[in-house]
Amino acid sequence: MHRICKLCGILPHDVRKGSTAPMSFFEDVANSLGLSPLGEETKHGLAKHIVKSLDQKWDKSCYSDGGTVTQIALERIEKGLRLSGRQETNKKQSVHFPTEIPFDKIQLSIDRIDRDGPAPHKASHTYDVVVNDRSYPPPAVVAFALEEMGHQIVSPGTIRAGKGTRAFKLLADAGFEPVSKHTVPTDDDEILENRVNDLLLNSDLLDEAFTGSDTPPDKSEKTASSYKRNAGVIATILRLAGGTCELCLAAAPFRRPDGHLYLEVHHVQFLAEGGLDNTKNAVALCPNCHCRCHYSEETQPLADRLYRQVNRLKKPSSGF
Ligand SMILES: [Zn+2]
Ligand SMILES: [Zn+2]
Repeated sequence: MHRICKLCGILPHDVRKGSTAPMSFFEDVANSLGLSPLGEETKHGLAKHIVKSLDQKWDKSCYSDGGTVTQIALERIEKGLRLSGRQETNKKQSVHFPTEIPFDKIQLSIDRIDRDGPAPHKASHTYDVVVNDRSYPPPAVVAFALEEMGHQIVSPGTIRAGKGTRAFKLLADAGFEPVSKHTVPTDDDEILENRVNDLLLNSDLLDEAFTGSDTPPDKSEKTASSYKRNAGVIATILRLAGGTCELCLAAAPFRRPDGHLYLEVHHVQFLAEGGLDNTKNAVALCPNCHCRCHYSEETQPLADRLYRQVNRLKKPSSGF
């Protein structure tokens, strides 16, 4: 049971949600790292071997109920592969990347995915190419674009497209820079919190200049009263606040089990009243101040005080 306002609060919870990555994903990665056969029959067991072999930390944030693993474990696998530089060399087939992929070839690739789907390539766990609000797995985009350029057919699982890879750079150079799934708005509280945790733990997943969106957040399709929220905004605000409530300026009242100081991210102009989910409209508050901002008789004076006190905030244009 959470007393915290559903609109703005980060909800604490113990068991993290399992990711939907199939067993075959872990088997492929284990194969590519030369780890098989391991005799592991659960995602948990296999993922643990992979994470450790990549010198990444395996802890309770990595696993979930029923032998599954979390998004955090997937992040660590991706990160380990990226750091080890093995993601493009240890594959059965190596891809010969051109020095550039023309815009129109990528557009043709995206048209093909619209028409036929990304198969045989799989969904990406960390990055997406986003065009007109639709998400495309970067490996499929690159693979099909290469085929459009006359290259041979690329087998699934061959192309890695996380930050720092050739595929990522080719997409970025053509104007299709993959965006971190961490900063795609979501209306799932657990996914949102997992992402915030990832972003707080891995500073390289979030650009320091990240500010969020300048257009109103999409209404969630789940219920009429929740909004898709961006983990990047929450993580950025918590970082900027540095453990101090931005209203009363007192230190956060306690630490969370993971050691982070506990503050809640609040939208000064409420999302329900048209507020934007970006850093110009969000502050980190202690639980008392957060409740005051929502439930007290002085919500407007408190909002005005926040606008005066926090330079980053921008008052909505009405009235100014
Ligand atoms: Zn406070
Ligand atoms: Zn709030």
